[in-house]
Parts: sequence; C-alpha cells; structure tokens
Amino acid sequence: MENWEKLSKMPYKEIKELQDRKLRAFMANQIYLYSPYYSNLLQELKIDPLKVKGIEDLRHLPFTYKWDIAPTDEEPQKAKDFVIRPDEEITEKYSHLAKMSMTGGKAQVEEKVYDFKPVHLHFTTGRTANPTPFLYSKRDLDNIREAGYRLLDVFEVTSDDIVVNCFPFAPHLAFWQTFFAGEQMDVANFHSGGGKIVGTKNLMDAFEYLRPTVAVFIPGYCYYFLREAVKQGRDFSSIKKLFFGGERVPPGLKDKIKELFVQLGAEDVMVLATYGMTEAKVAWPECPSHDEYYGYHLFPDMEVFETVDPETGEPVGEGEEGEIVYTSLDWRGTAVLRYRTGDIAKGGLMYEPCPNCGRTVPRISSNIQRKSEMKEFSMTKVKGTLVNLNNFFPLMMSQPDVEEWQVEMRKRNDDPYDLDEIYLYVAVKEDVDREKLAADVRQKVLRDTEVSLTDIIFKPVPELVKQLGMETELKEKRILDNRPTD
Ligand SMILES: [Zn+2]
Repeated sequence: MENWEKLSKMPYKEIKELQDRKLRAFMANQIYLYSPYYSNLLQELKIDPLKVKGIEDLRHLPFTYKWDIAPTDEEPQKAKDFVIRPDEEITEKYSHLAKMSMTGGKAQVEEKVYDFKPVHLHFTTGRTANPTPFLYSKRDLDNIREAGYRLLDVFEVTSDDIVVNCFPFAPHLAFWQTFFAGEQMDVANFHSGGGKIVGTKNLMDAFEYLRPTVAVFIPGYCYYFLREAVKQGRDFSSIKKLFFGGERVPPGLKDKIKELFVQLGAEDVMVLATYGMTEAKVAWPECPSHDEYYGYHLFPDMEVFETVDPETGEPVGEGEEGEIVYTSLDWRGTAVLRYRTGDIAKGGLMYEPCPNCGRTVPRISSNIQRKSEMKEFSMTKVKGTLVNLNNFFPLMMSQPDVEEWQVEMRKRNDDPYDLDEIYLYVAVKEDVDREKLAADVRQKVLRDTEVSLTDIIFKPVPELVKQLGMETELKEKRILDNRPTD
C-alpha cells in the first residue's frame, strides 16, 4: 500500500489516477484469473476485464449483494468462491519449484504463500443470513495493520498512549482491527475482552490501575459501564479519548457519554466513531472534532467507494445522499466488487480536502444510517405496516431520563395469526414522572416509527440490563422479535 503521509497530501486528481491504475491491475491480474465467482460472472456477462480502465467503469459491472455471498443450507461453501485463490497454480508451481528449491524456487513459493494463503478470518454477524467468513492472507494482515495505523494517526494517538480495548473477544472486525492497530502503532494495549470476559468490576479496576488514555467500546455497553462507574464513584480521569466501533453511534449518546466522563473526573473527552464492515476487512476513522462532523477518512489505495440511488442503482453526485457501494482494491483472501452495503450516507462522498485536518483522501459523511446488525430487521412488518426500527435508537438514546430500553415484538396470545404487538421496556432515573415520560415517549415513537406501542413497561435497571444481555452477549439485544413463525 501507499505511504499514508504521502497519500494524505496527494491531490485528488492523482489519487484517482492511482485508483484507476490499481483497479485495472486488480481486475486483470487477480479478479479475472483467480476469483471463481467473478471470473465466471464476467465470462457469463461477456465483460472483458481489460475494458475496465478506471473507477468510472465500475458502473458497468453488476452489484454484489449480501445474499450472493452468504452460505445457505444448499450451498454452504458459497463464500469460498469470493476468495482469490490460484490453488491449481500454487500446487503446480509448488511441486515444480520444490524440486528447484535449491536454486531459489523456495523464495517464490513463500511469496505465493504470503500473498494468497488464508491465515485469519472474521465472520459477519447477520441475523437472518448465516454468518459469512471473510478471509485474510498474510499480505492482507499487513493491510489491516496499515489501516489500524491510519486510524490511530487520524485519531492522533501516539506510542505514549495507553489503550484499553473493551470489545469482546470474537472473530469480528471490531476487536481485531483494534488489536492490529495498537500493535502497529507501538501502543501499550490491554485487550480486555470487555465485561463479557473479565467482568465489569475488574474492567473498572483496570481503568483505575492502568490509567489508560484511550478506551475503545461498543456504544451500548459503554453507556452502561460508565453509569455503573459513576454509581461506584470511580476515577477515570486519565481518559482523553474514546473510540466507538461495532455499531452506529446515535448523536445523543455522544453527549451523554461526555457528561458521564465529567462525573468520573475526565474533562473534554473526545468521543469518536469508526465506520467499518466485515466485507471491507478494515474500519475507517471519523475526523476528530468536538462539535462538528467532518466525515470518515477513507483509504483510496485499499478500496473504491461509490454512492448510488438505492432504488435505481444509478450513481449519485458528490455530496449527495446515496447507498454506499464498496469495491475491494488490491486485496487477496476474500474480495468483493460493487458490494451493496445497505448503509445510506446522508451527506454522500466528499472529494475536496478535509476542512478540519487538510487530508486529501476522500471522505464519507458521518451521518450514515447504518442498518448493519438491524439490516435484515429494520423494515419489518409490524401491524401490517413497514416500520423502521432503526428510529428507536436515536429517539431512545437521546432521552435524558431513560437509562436503558428494549423493544419487543410479540403476537397477541402467542398466536402467529393474531395481531402484532409491540412493547417498550424502559428503566428510568429515580424521581422521574413516569406517566409524563410514558406519554411523551408514546407520542415520539408514533411520530418517528409510525407505530403505536401496545404498552410501555417500566423495569428496574438491573433487570433490564440482564434482559438486554449487557454482560453476556456480544452486542446487547435492543430489539427482540419474539413473534412466532407459522
Ligand atoms: Zn480530516
């Protein structure tokens, strides 16, 4: 990959030329020859890979959707066809070169192994689709390390910082991107595994004992963790920065988190988000600022971002709202072309230099309606109308008197043919007028999701925390669909 300092200052015109050049080579030398899925597809559609001269030509290629990759019961090995794998060639060369190893053939074999042999993998965390593996070769691991270095560079983390990684251990991008980033930046790291692994009390002790300057969290658990710490009168005054990953950060939550840190002795904590996806094999950093949103800085030598009209699939202009479409550039292992993320960037793509830090790499708007975990779930049929359940997140997270919440969908009498019911569970602060809050929330839910709640049920915080699986699940269960299927 390119030198990051150089790339960050390169005029956009040169960045685009670089992307064109890399895309041409990637299509001709890797995708067409070694990606079983795409080489078949291109042949079927009679698309000559050499006709792809630059990133504008991507629009002539078909989209790839989640269901094209996700394993099914009929085709459990489907995801393998997206892996760049010159298997036959390696085998052939290996047997040939093994005989030649005395004369330098061994180095060539090792080079092939470095490029292509999968050595690491992450899984997607879909709810309706089966988990899909995304493979990394050693060469790809160098890329995820480089991406990690870039993340921390944008976040202005240095080797003097101490990082506590609170993501649970899992074969997921969030934990491992944090792991490789810290390693590459020569930072002192504590990869704790979060409350799920070490327990919330021990994690709090670690914050006081290690005096970290940076903490990395999933938003939901972080909010719970900090509230508990305030109750216990903990001292987290060493924290300067907090990075979120794993899911979308509702804007209201950032303010709540900052307030909690003030109570824990840390003033002016910079709360920053990352945008990442398993399919892209890296995560991107939000440009740091206390009160403005400048977008996420992209890595144009590792990928191409497009934004398209979600209905027609036609590209939209710079700065215009559109669905994010991702194309791998120069990866080995799993690589996808024109992957429809389902994520909508409200402010689109931006190509002018960043007004905040001056970096010239493209940016994607901070305002991403991230469906991710809720993707298959979000536009679900409740009471016969389509409901956007994502709207519960900004609404409930910005309620100052609400500590925790959960939505449950059920069928009346548990009968699959009966009416849909939708319950909201809330845990509130003490001395809150519950009737008033319930009336207010009921009205806002109707406004934002167009559904009227069957009931609002108040619960004590510990009970709701347990119900959410806050300390037992990888991600808390905010929205439950307990409607029986027929
Ligand atoms: Zn910037």
